Amino acid sequence: MLSPSDLRPSEHLYTKVQRAIPAIEWPVFAEDIDAIIALKRSRNAVILAHNYQTPEIFHCVADIVGDSLALAREAMKVDADVILLAGVHFMAETAKLLNPSKTVLIPDLGAGCSLADSITPEDIRLLRQTYPSVPIVTYVNTSAAVKAESDICCTSGNARAVVESLGVERVIMLPDEYLARNIAAETRVRVITWTGHCEVHERFSAAEVRQLRENHPGVVVLAHPECPPDVLAEADFAGSTAAMSCYVADRRPPRVVLLTECSMSDNVALQYPDLEFIRPCNLCPHMKKITLGNIRQALQTMQHEVTIDDSIAARARLAVERMLAVT
Ligand code: SF4
Repeated sequence: MLSPSDLRPSEHLYTKVQRAIPAIEWPVFAEDIDAIIALKRSRNAVILAHNYQTPEIFHCVADIVGDSLALAREAMKVDADVILLAGVHFMAETAKLLNPSKTVLIPDLGAGCSLADSITPEDIRLLRQTYPSVPIVTYVNTSAAVKAESDICCTSGNARAVVESLGVERVIMLPDEYLARNIAAETRVRVITWTGHCEVHERFSAAEVRQLRENHPGVVVLAHPECPPDVLAEADFAGSTAAMSCYVADRRPPRVVLLTECSMSDNVALQYPDLEFIRPCNLCPHMKKITLGNIRQALQTMQHEVTIDDSIAARARLAVERMLAVT
């Protein structure tokens, strides 16, 4: 007869993901999960995972999960020696900014972001010359070097509050054009935009939403504010991934679609088996660079460590801390 100590640590985790991972595939995942759990202990490490990570990462090895804002807040409080960021590079940089004494690892240095790639520090310096007295609000989906040139950061969850906290008539909000236009529609503050787009959310269209409603009568449509404004106009609710999760938890729509990265729907659907999730799938190729295999390897080899030049870190940290003071 098996005693509890004979059970692999991953054994009890399968119930969390059995509706997403076929039983025949589980042993392959379980081997990595067991190794990661042991490595977390030996390295004194915690794993922060974004909502767009796949279910076996999100539900089985992550210690803290959430959207960019939640991960930033939680990164500050981490007491362990090592933070492994299961997400994209700017999130790992934000964790390092907010908790600089920790070793921050990302399993794949190529996990970038189309928004972060759309703007450089030089672009911001040019904007300052063009609009000398207009504050620059920078989405957290940017490099630390871009944050360092900004006045304050924001996330999709707090963008309006940040913009309105400045008490000015005009702001520059970058790099996400659609987020900026969607916030401009909600506030009296005039918003100057940039032309960056999220390659996942820009693919949703208003026609697709109408088709979803026709094919799935009664469906409640939740959209991320990185989607184009005409998509939000067709949606029932717009909000960050955390706000979408709260909407589902509070209102329990019997049939729902989340217009965002597809793993988000997978992760939320596992928590609400009684609800029907319609899943148009737009994958983020950057988020999908993180796997159980490279998380395990990162903890084994302690690579890749994320560092930030001192000349950038202090200014970038200030922009993030100003944001955290608002919300
Ligand atoms: S989903 Fe969009 S915003 Fe998020 S990391 Fe991927 S490309 Fe960047």
